Amino acid sequence: FDEEYDVIIVGSGFAGIACGIKCAEKGYKTLMIEKMGRIGGNSVINGGIFCVPQNDLQKKAGIKDSNELFIADCMKAGLGINHKELLETLAKRAHETYQFTLKYGAKYLDSLVHEGGHSVPRTYQTAVGSGAGIVLPLMERFEKMAGVALKTRTKFDDFVMDDAGRVIGILAREDYRFDSKLFSDDLENQGGTPKAFKATKAVMLASGGFCQDKYYRAVQDPRLTPSTDSTNHPGATAGVLLKAFGIGAVPVQVSWIQFGPWACPDEKGFGVGSMFNVNASFRYGISVDPKTGKRYMNELADRKIRADHMFAVIGKDENYPINLCDSQAIERLLPDHYEKALKAGILKKFNTLEELAQQYKMPVEAFKKTVTDYNSYVKAGKDPEFGKPTNMVDGITLSKAPFYAMRGTPKLHHTMGGLQINTQAQVIHSKTHQPIPGLYAAGEVTGGVHGASRLGSVAITDCLTFGMIAGENI
Ligand code: ADP
Repeated sequence: FDEEYDVIIVGSGFAGIACGIKCAEKGYKTLMIEKMGRIGGNSVINGGIFCVPQNDLQKKAGIKDSNELFIADCMKAGLGINHKELLETLAKRAHETYQFTLKYGAKYLDSLVHEGGHSVPRTYQTAVGSGAGIVLPLMERFEKMAGVALKTRTKFDDFVMDDAGRVIGILAREDYRFDSKLFSDDLENQGGTPKAFKATKAVMLASGGFCQDKYYRAVQDPRLTPSTDSTNHPGATAGVLLKAFGIGAVPVQVSWIQFGPWACPDEKGFGVGSMFNVNASFRYGISVDPKTGKRYMNELADRKIRADHMFAVIGKDENYPINLCDSQAIERLLPDHYEKALKAGILKKFNTLEELAQQYKMPVEAFKKTVTDYNSYVKAGKDPEFGKPTNMVDGITLSKAPFYAMRGTPKLHHTMGGLQINTQAQVIHSKTHQPIPGLYAAGEVTGGVHGASRLGSVAITDCLTFGMIAGENI
């Protein structure tokens, strides 16, 4: 071995950072490695929405919630194949996780987001409007803690095991240069200096999902081509996951790959448009098929249901749905969630509904009837056409000009499957059905919590909570 630590954490997103802080609190000599030049993986670029059932803002607003309702919502979206004990752990610990982030400098808005598939609003939004609002303050504090080292451009390549089957270290490469044009990070050597790191207590895997692994994702779902766009950072590849399978870890539900239904086809990746749809058009507005001028789905259904409906509209001729809201919705948004999109020209502003319809070549009268009908559903608190929970939209109708619209499309967003862990964040071995000694994992590299489809804003809860639990148990 070239260097020795108590704990080695692979990955610098939510899961890795939460674990890192917990280890450093205990005085462990902790190394965190990150293969990219920048820290934070998907965690730092996502929308920063964090689900906490039975939270303080719900209590203030008189919204009734329970752990059982949260679990039932997750299992409905997850088609019942969720590993329920992991969800129960999340429900029990989520509030503590939230307080842990506050202690280390995260800040949130004082109003709740209502993400699709949740029966009630139960989601915090970071004050800066992205996951950076958690990742950056936590990382800043982590790096100042005693006994801690962070190495970027350092890539995990393999495990080092002892004869008894315990993970005792890793092989990695320093000064590694990730090439985002590559198909899959394990297919080609991308340079760097090989080193062996010893971990006397544990190796913790927090390497995220594989939405950008053009090879492995297509193995799981052959409909995905190399050009299928994703909201993920380019380093979201399957290398660590596959190495863990190689030492006996159990694969869980690896072919469930989620499309985020709120992206925009007129820009690449997560971009600057996604949060307009997450926080404004889907909650306070509607999504329409431009060919008919009509709605075609419950805009607050879970992600899989929405993505499937949107793909049906998009069809073969790229007939992208139009997502829209009025200025009352915009007034509730963080400026960052619409100003950049307006500047980029992907979000458009209209003085009248007629102008909006003309821009997207929609049948004007049909579209206006859609809006009138929808507004009546909001007033009645019931949507008889698609079952959107219009009683939860604070009475906001499509009525106050100017109106705002954006073309919408689903993009690859989250890989639900991954390594089997127990409620202690230990990785389970396929032969013994017991933890692999010395190995922990949390976050998107693991599977089971979300079943077939993850509800929006539960990833942050999942990654941080099981990251924290891994740190507690190491
Ligand atoms: P999570 O939300 O589960 O914490 P993220 O995507 O935010 O996941 O973070 C995972 C991080 O792990 C990313 O920054 C990614 O670049 C990093 N990573 C992935 N594979 C490796 C590897 N082989 N070696 C080091 N870091 C890796």
